[in-house]
Amino acid sequence: MRAFTFMRVDRIDDAIIAVTDPGTKLLAGGTNLLDLMKGYVEQPERIVDINGLPLAQVLELPDGGVRLGALVRNSDAANHPLIRQRYPLLSQALLAGASPQLRNMASIGGNLMQRTRCYYFYDTAFPACNKRAPGTGCAAREGFSRIHAIFGASEQCVATHPSDMAVALTALDAVVEVRSHDGVRHIPVGKFHRLPGTTPARDTNLEPGELITAVDLPPSPFAGNSHYLKVRDRASYAFALVSVAAALDQRGGAVRDARIILGGVAHKPWRLGNAEREIVGRRLDETSISAAAQASLEGAQPLRDNAFKVELTRRAVAQALRNAGKLA
Ligand code: SF4
Repeated sequence: MRAFTFMRVDRIDDAIIAVTDPGTKLLAGGTNLLDLMKGYVEQPERIVDINGLPLAQVLELPDGGVRLGALVRNSDAANHPLIRQRYPLLSQALLAGASPQLRNMASIGGNLMQRTRCYYFYDTAFPACNKRAPGTGCAAREGFSRIHAIFGASEQCVATHPSDMAVALTALDAVVEVRSHDGVRHIPVGKFHRLPGTTPARDTNLEPGELITAVDLPPSPFAGNSHYLKVRDRASYAFALVSVAAALDQRGGAVRDARIILGGVAHKPWRLGNAEREIVGRRLDETSISAAAQASLEGAQPLRDNAFKVELTRRAVAQALRNAGKLA
């Protein structure tokens, strides 16, 4: 690990000043950053510990929503009564991530900022990685691509985003609050992460000098009918091959509204608008579920080693919908 300077801040204004320096990395739980530093993938000149900032609260909002401070630990969010009661989808997704020890450390903001688990990104023995070293190529395109994207990839990068939490947050229409010298900005979670395009080194639409301060969850019609399904190589402590956040507003007979979001298949949580349209306004039965599952594959472009994800996606979407809703 390269030598770095270290400091702590306990005021948001000081953290904003710190984050304007491109050589600085902010430390919350550190569960991803320290691995990246040990592997020389990240080599910051300065680490600023932000754990003293007043951002670790779970607050009920006047409109019935909930605010998660950026430093709320993943375990605390998952087990908080407001989250379990109003957003069980989020609780399930958080508890599907990592291990209990990691969830005890990992923060809400850090979870959003974690980086891909593409093996070639982490292994500097492979020089070709446009995300780690722009302009060098993509080792995964020619290499082993089992865990990589089937949606929204580019010639430059086929990595996936590893977060379970972000998939659920996208289904729940959550909004990220960020602060900078210019004031406060709100970014829908669905627009927070980016597709790789020609600039895969950028994972998010966060601008330089912006600090994540909270994630706001609006009142949700999905609490009674949602499910997070994660398919992975082992039962715990593994990233998703495919995951599905399925959320249905099923008051009355027909499905009034729906969110179907995939994880593990793209550079960002992948919303299945076509699949949602197959079930909204219809009764939830095997016919509408099958139509939605089939529609979920539109635009899929598997790589050499991950064609299995296409069929896995179809089946996972169908099962997540069955688990989420009340079948007619
Ligand atoms: Fe790097 Fe992206 Fe290619 Fe992985 S998929 S090697 S992260 S450029």
